[in-house]
Amino acid sequence: MKKKLDLTRIKLSRQREIAPGVFLMSFPRPWDFTAGQVIGISSGHGLEARLYSIASGELDDEVDILYSLNPEGKLTPWLSALNTADSIHISEPFGSFTCGGEDAWWIASGTGIAPFRSMFLTGLTKGKKLLHGGRDLSSFYFNEQFLPVLGNRYVRCCSREEAPGIYGGRLTRYLMEQTDMPPHEKYYLCGSAEMVVDVRDILLTKGIPFNNIISEIYF
Ligand SMILES: Cc1cc2nc3c(=O)[nH]c(=O)nc-3n(C[C@H](O)[C@H](O)[C@H](O)COP(=O)(O)OP(=O)(O)OC[C@H]3O[C@@H](n4cnc5c(N)ncnc54)[C@H](O)[C@@H]3O)c2cc1C
Repeated sequence: MKKKLDLTRIKLSRQREIAPGVFLMSFPRPWDFTAGQVIGISSGHGLEARLYSIASGELDDEVDILYSLNPEGKLTPWLSALNTADSIHISEPFGSFTCGGEDAWWIASGTGIAPFRSMFLTGLTKGKKLLHGGRDLSSFYFNEQFLPVLGNRYVRCCSREEAPGIYGGRLTRYLMEQTDMPPHEKYYLCGSAEMVVDVRDILLTKGIPFNNIISEIYF
């Protein structure tokens, strides 16, 4: 999805590759936002903004954006070549994929972990279970932050590699095996359309009401 947004220029304070082809970009926080919201980002060369979830906490001094390089894409190859003090164009935050203090499951694939890291760093961890699906062991971005706080409420599902403490298989298989998924809790899904559609189907077959499934799809 590409949106026409009002954009302003801002300088990056940091950019680093945290896993092969996956980058964490930061800039000083210019506005307030609610964890789970997105911003538009453009190179400013007439390119329509692409949307990105904010991956940092509401009160952090810097805004973090987690993104994966799409070599065929128009924006991410340009973004990934930037360094500290280079500029990007950003919109104000918006979006309603936000979460309160209720018990909930946060379910992500790949860079879809970004809004949940924002909620996590904002302190919304009570009663939350975090599931993250990835292909290889390098896909579990921020696990060093999640593990000490969430313990066994943080589940990593790895489809192509195995390691102790990590579920060997796809996120969807892990969910199908679960017998205790309370229907009154909220289920927040974020990631590729394929993951969101597959997980939503599994949750519905497990008796989770449609209204308790809240999705953010990365087109
Ligand atoms: C709500 C939301 C939140 C998002 N948050 C994140 C996030 O936090 N992190 C993240 O990594 N991504 C996120 N995304 C995805 C992000 O917005 C971009 O789509 C992604 O980064 C690719 O951008 P790009 O400009 O590099 O690729 P694009 O130029 O948009 O291209 C994407 C794909 O489409 C193909 N393509 C492009 N133009 C054409 C064409 N004319 N004909 C046929 N195929 C074409 C390309 O080959 C490429 O494979 C989010 C998306 C949404 C909707």
